[in-house]
Amino acid sequence: MSPSTLPSWPPSLSAEQHEYLLLLASTYALSHGFILLPPKSSSPPTHTFAAPLSLFPTPFPRQLYDFAREIQPIYNALYARVALDWEFLDRVMGGSVSKVDTFQGELWRGWRQVREELVQPIQLGIFRSDYLLHSTSTKSDMELKQVEFNTIAASFGALSQRAGEMHRYLASATDQYFGVSSYLEEESSYPHNESLEQIGAGLAEGFKAYGKKDAAVLFVVQDGERNVFDQRWLEYELLERHGIRVIRHTFSELANLAQIDRTTKTLLLPSPFLPNAAPTEIAVIYYRSAYTPSDYPSSSEWTTRLLLERSRAIKCPSMALQLAGAKKIQQVLCEPGVLEDFLLSEDRPDVGFGHGSGSLSQADVDKLRETWIGLWPMDDSEYGREAYHLATTQPERFVLKPQREGGGNNIYRTDIPSALEALAKADRAPGEPEKKEGYILMELITPPQGLHNWLVKGGESKARKADVVSELGVYGVMLFGDEEVVLNRGAGTLLRTKGRESDEGGVAIGKFCLCEICVP
Ligand code: ADP
Ligand code: MG
Ligand code: MG
Repeated sequence: MSPSTLPSWPPSLSAEQHEYLLLLASTYALSHGFILLPPKSSSPPTHTFAAPLSLFPTPFPRQLYDFAREIQPIYNALYARVALDWEFLDRVMGGSVSKVDTFQGELWRGWRQVREELVQPIQLGIFRSDYLLHSTSTKSDMELKQVEFNTIAASFGALSQRAGEMHRYLASATDQYFGVSSYLEEESSYPHNESLEQIGAGLAEGFKAYGKKDAAVLFVVQDGERNVFDQRWLEYELLERHGIRVIRHTFSELANLAQIDRTTKTLLLPSPFLPNAAPTEIAVIYYRSAYTPSDYPSSSEWTTRLLLERSRAIKCPSMALQLAGAKKIQQVLCEPGVLEDFLLSEDRPDVGFGHGSGSLSQADVDKLRETWIGLWPMDDSEYGREAYHLATTQPERFVLKPQREGGGNNIYRTDIPSALEALAKADRAPGEPEKKEGYILMELITPPQGLHNWLVKGGESKARKADVVSELGVYGVMLFGDEEVVLNRGAGTLLRTKGRESDEGGVAIGKFCLCEICVP
């Protein structure tokens, strides 16, 4: 299939087939841990919801799917090199962003405070590069456009693998979906996705690189997290496949528990419920928290973050790698020559492609750039003034993004001018840059029209037919330092499908459904 069209979707079902499929999907989800906690769960929990799901996989052009997977190691290398370039991070994140955005400011200043003392040369990245299909009247072919690149707490690796397994099960349990579509009958329509296994393997490689068999991996998690099973599956994967223990703590719990040996800098945690046992050494710190201001309700969380950062444990991610994932960095990478500098300069660290001209080429630069859409700073540079003009005269073409993660923070279309006005009026200290400098302006990606699917919200027992938009996430794992690179590879995919009417919304709040891909 050429990437200019998608099949008419979903194929039609009789009422009985529909009913049967819904039953099979819901029971499969509940029995295979494709689940979320309901809102306001007790502890320990007593009930679960099936995670939001789609009855059919959603079609995605194979060529673009393969392309997204192919370029993931180049993206991994790019972001690793950004994290290793202190001067660049200082210039971009230590500039006006750190002055107008308190959270990014704390993160950058905290990193600057500890970076000379760090004893662990290796860092672990578990990344997810997110894309939408872009379809315009001027080009006949659909394109793949990057939404953002996540370097911290990239979630749904486990549930995504389960979603794929569920659609394969539905296919075989219904004689390839009742024969209603040739796409559903093709084995090749269901790509192999082992995101859970691949991400688990990445964490296990980090553990191995640390080199202490009786150590453990620390998961730093949020209080009240509904997506706990996505994390638990990773925990079981580490234990069952790799023999590695996981200790889970919320960020605030660690304030009282975490200790660092003064000379060796090993991070030690008390063994849970064995008060007389020796403390457990932590080999890898995996953050599924610490990425948003509400994870730091007081200065004590920042103190904990710095304590953990100073330890010998391998961080996933390090503070530098978290800074590298800022939307401001994504925007600056788009400025002329910046990508060439990171991918082609002779003096950049290896990160899996060797050094300089022997490794990456202009063709690789072009491939990444092909996935970009317009991005502008909101400062008083020439680009910034152009952005301001565009945002106030043609707002319907844009989204305005703050330096935030976790969804629900962006400002869309005609809301932009009044948001900019409010930012201009916001209080600021003398000499402080304007608040808008903490934002970036991004051209809207326009996904193809006419694709529908049956979506089931978490906790509901019926499916709703929706006009859908799918966001493809490609995972990457990377274990690297200035001097060495242990691994750089792709780690599977995620396809989140949402009703077109909503600009965004997380899986947990029910607007996005997890579905696997049918690549016709
Ligand atoms: P976050 O880090 O909070 O997930 P994103 O940049 O991914 O922030 O934006 C959240 C959501 O907003 C995306 O999942 C996507 O649905 C939508 N979105 C973001 N940027 C664009 C864009 N340029 N065009 C269309 N939709 C976008
Ligand atoms: Mg993000
Ligand atoms: Mg996102």
